[in-house]
Formats: sequence, C-alpha cells, structure tokens
Amino acid sequence: MSIKSLIRTIPDYPKKGIMFRDITTLFSDADGLRDVIDGFAAEYQDKNIDVIAGIEARGFVIGPAVAVALGIGFVTVRKKGKLPAETISVEYDLEYGSDVIEIHKDSIKPGQRVLIMDDLIATGGTALGAIDLVEKAGGDVAGCAFIIDLPDLGGAQKIRDRGVDEFHLVEFE
Ligand code: 5GP
Repeated sequence: MSIKSLIRTIPDYPKKGIMFRDITTLFSDADGLRDVIDGFAAEYQDKNIDVIAGIEARGFVIGPAVAVALGIGFVTVRKKGKLPAETISVEYDLEYGSDVIEIHKDSIKPGQRVLIMDDLIATGGTALGAIDLVEKAGGDVAGCAFIIDLPDLGGAQKIRDRGVDEFHLVEFE
C-alpha cells in the first residue's frame, strides 16, 4: 500500500470540523514505515546534513531513523520545561494562541547544517518556531521535512518564503 493510503483520517479530532491525519497506522505497517524512512534518506543523502532536529512528539519517531540512515546525530526540539540542561526558547504562533519550544543550548554546533523534521505541516507555526530556535542556537537550517503537507493551510509556502528548502512525502487537501 502507498504511504498516503496507510494514513488514517479521523473526523472531528481533536475538535469538531478538523480532519485529523493519523500516522500511527502508517508507522505500524512494516513496509509503510520503511518507505517513509527510505523516502527521506533518498532525498537527503547528498545534501550534507550534519544533524536532524526532530519536533516533539511525532518528529521523534521519524527523525532518529533517518539520522541513522544518513549516519548523523539527532537532537530534540521539546515543549517548554522538558529539557534538563541549559536551553534556548522561542514562542511560536498556533492557530489559537501560542506555545513555547526549547532546545539544549549546546546541542547544535555553530554553522552545522540542520534538517528539521516533523510529521505534518499545517499553518507552519510550529516549523517556523523550530527554524527560529535552530538559528538562535547557531545552526544553519538546511531544510524542513514532513511526511504530510496540508497545502491549503499555507505552511509549506511560508517556509519557502523564508528561503528554507521544504520537502514532504504526501499531501492532503
Ligand atoms: P502547524 O504549526 O503547522 O499549524 O501544525 C503542525 C503541528 O501540529 C505538527 O507538530 C503536527 O504534529 C500537528 N498536527 C496538526 N494537525 C495534525 C494532523 O492532522 N495530524 C497529525 N498527525 N498532526 C497534526
């Protein structure tokens, strides 16, 4: 089965009117999971990425597997208050309100080429926050990669408008 057909859609989750794209059904399928990791590894194998920064929580599922495939390391971008050592924080916009994400101050070396990964890009608020965070930490954002883009919500375009390379495996209306 294709990656797209292994993603389950849950209507009205987490609230009425939202079509939630559930990737747990993709991850639990051996071929689907391998196709996802192979797809990212093929895209980035010649792009001189130094480290992958995965966004909590679903970016933690794909990021480390792709990092192993590329022979590089993985760092975590976490919600506020979860990291034990000294952190850098940024506040970013959500559809309603805002949130804070953090990274360990010493997790990225100056000038490292960082690939940011998450499962899905919608409005782009989360990914743009992660770009700010990686840049504040001294990294050079080499790209942002997602399994799913929702192009109607415009997030991927915002990433490209910012001059950052954007890549995704599938799209949903
Ligand atoms: P954005 O900040 O681009 O509006 O939203 C993207 C973030 O919300 C990502 O971290 C993603 O995990 C989560 N998200 C929003 N909608 C969905 C969805 O339909 N399915 C999944 N799996 N994640 C979603």
